[in-house]
Amino acid sequence: MKTIGLIGGMSWESSAEYYRLINQGMKARLGGHFNARSIMATVCFEEIKALQHAQQWDELGRCMQQAALQLEAGGADFVLLCTNTMHRVAPEIESVLKVPFVHIVDPTAQALRHAGIRRVGLLGTRFTMEQEFYRARMRDLHGIEVLVPDQADRELVHQVIYDELCHGIVRDAARADYQRIVASLQAQGAGGVVLGCTEIALLIGQDDVALPVFDSTALHAQAAVTLALQGDKRD
Ligand code: GLU
Repeated sequence: MKTIGLIGGMSWESSAEYYRLINQGMKARLGGHFNARSIMATVCFEEIKALQHAQQWDELGRCMQQAALQLEAGGADFVLLCTNTMHRVAPEIESVLKVPFVHIVDPTAQALRHAGIRRVGLLGTRFTMEQEFYRARMRDLHGIEVLVPDQADRELVHQVIYDELCHGIVRDAARADYQRIVASLQAQGAGGVVLGCTEIALLIGQDDVALPVFDSTALHAQAAVTLALQGDKRD
């Protein structure tokens, strides 16, 4: 079994979900007391959040490179970055790693393609919804068009992530807001919705909305389990 490297702490609320999903996934595949072999390098989200909001992407790239190299030196066979937003610096991370980097967009897009969905709504931080790094990979590598909420709703989605979900706060009023926003993406022609922030599944899931839901956290974690077991005869 390969060792999974996880860059965590953004926020730890979602890193805990990765840990749970990866270990549950491994147990589902192998049974018994099997769990995943993994290492997590946890960064300080207070520092990361400040750098994000100051648009210090070069410095953030260096922070992520350092965490990735820590994992590689510790024996990780491949690396996952447990946040959508920080994939803004995925090329910088890949440039220093010798082991593979599993980009969060890829398993998410593969699930969309598998479901036959070519136009999708995206919920995430303002950075993920507004900058090119996420939608460009969806479009150019996977042929999927991304729709985002209007400016006021993007702001609302962003604030709920940082002020509530990253603190483990889950409110019914925020869920109702997200439901309204997903319905409006559906009205614009989205065939599914990507939970493109690793904490959003704490708030909404398939039972809350009519559109098919694609949770980037669960799909990324599942991809890690599959890769960790590649070539393993017990699987
Ligand atoms: N976990 C979130 C994401 O997937 C937001 C926290 C962060 O800014 O990294 O984008």
